[in-house]
Amino acid sequence: MRLFSKHIDINEYSSDYDDSYQVTPYFTYGMFRCSKCISNHMCIDTIRLLEKARTLSQAIYPPIHYKIVHGYVCNTHIHHYSKVEGNKIANTHTTGRAVDIACNDSISRYSILYGLLNSGISRIGIYSNHIHVDTVITGGYSIIYVGDR
Ligand SMILES: [Zn+2]
Ligand SMILES: [Zn+2]
Repeated sequence: MRLFSKHIDINEYSSDYDDSYQVTPYFTYGMFRCSKCISNHMCIDTIRLLEKARTLSQAIYPPIHYKIVHGYVCNTHIHHYSKVEGNKIANTHTTGRAVDIACNDSISRYSILYGLLNSGISRIGIYSNHIHVDTVITGGYSIIYVGDR
């Protein structure tokens, strides 16, 4: 896997790690923890890029609720998630460079995609209940794929 930029782990960024810690104006530390344990090794650049994408999405009417369903997922717990996204995509969550945004309707799907595409995010997966985003480059192409779940 080739990566966009140096991985600056969220834990190296600040010594203030309570869940309400404001990483960017919208996103807090707790939003990106592994959902099955307390570990959190999100890449700070990925969160910053997502902040840009979320801000851009707010230019579309109506404003939508932007909810992260999965951010970092640890190696111990990734197998739960491989069932949904498949091993290859799910594993990008263990790098701290992937997030899933809740989305199950066409209005929010438009807003979220508008923000993602205009922020420079180039790997997007559309599932029935979420949109997967990652900043891991595997093939060099910008892609939007459709997940089968
Ligand atoms: Zn875990
Ligand atoms: Zn995902």
